Amino acid sequence: MGVPSVFVRTSGCNLRCTWCDTPYTSWQPEGEERSVSSIVDEVSSYGASHVVITGGEPMIAPQIEELTEELAARLTQHITIETAGTVDAHVHCDLMSISPKLANSTPLTRDNGRWADQHERLRYQPEILRRLVQLYPYQLKFVITEPNDLQQVNAIVSDIGASRNRVVLMPEGVDAATLADRGRWLADIAKREGFRMTPRLHIDLWGNRRGV
Ligand code: SF4
Repeated sequence: MGVPSVFVRTSGCNLRCTWCDTPYTSWQPEGEERSVSSIVDEVSSYGASHVVITGGEPMIAPQIEELTEELAARLTQHITIETAGTVDAHVHCDLMSISPKLANSTPLTRDNGRWADQHERLRYQPEILRRLVQLYPYQLKFVITEPNDLQQVNAIVSDIGASRNRVVLMPEGVDAATLADRGRWLADIAKREGFRMTPRLHIDLWGNRRGV
C-alpha cells in the first residue's frame, strides 16, 4: 500500500460477492478485449515500479499466464496478482495477494439469490489455496464485516497452513464512515490475533470511484 502502481483490471469473475466493489467486473461485467502486447505497452508507458493485476478474477482471464510472462520478460516491474484463490493458473508474479472469501460474501438476497449456491460452492478451495501459498510469495487478505468473521479466518489459516504474519484484515465498506467504525474494533482484533490490518487508502483519498 502506498506504492505508486499501475492496475490492470480484468473483467469477469466466477464469484458474486454480495458486497463486490467492482460489480462492473462481476455482476455486470464490462470492458473491451485487449491484446497482451497492448497491455504491456500501456503498463510500460506509466513508468511505475509496481503493477497489480486484479479483477474480477484475473486467474480466469484468457492469456493471463502469457500476460504475466510478457510483463516479466519486457519490464522490471514488481508484479502482484490479486485473486480470490479459487482457480489455478501457472502465472509469474512476485506477490500473490490472495483474498479467500468468507460466508459474509455470499449473495443470499442480491439478484433474488440466484448466484448464492454457485458462490457458496466455489468461494473456498483449500487445495488451490495450499498450492498458492506453497509456490508464491503471498499475503492473505480477508474482508471483515463483523468480529465473528475471525472464527472463519483462523480456521482457513490453519487449514491451508498459512503463516499468521502474512494475514491482513481489511474492513468491508465503500464509505469512510463505515470503514472508520469497523476499523476501530478490527484494530483491536488484529492486535489480539497477531494479524496485520489494512485500511482502504483509495477510499480514504478519493471515495468510492472508478479509475483511482
Ligand atoms: S471475487 Fe472480487 S471481483 Fe469477484 S465478486 Fe468477489 S469481490 Fe467482486
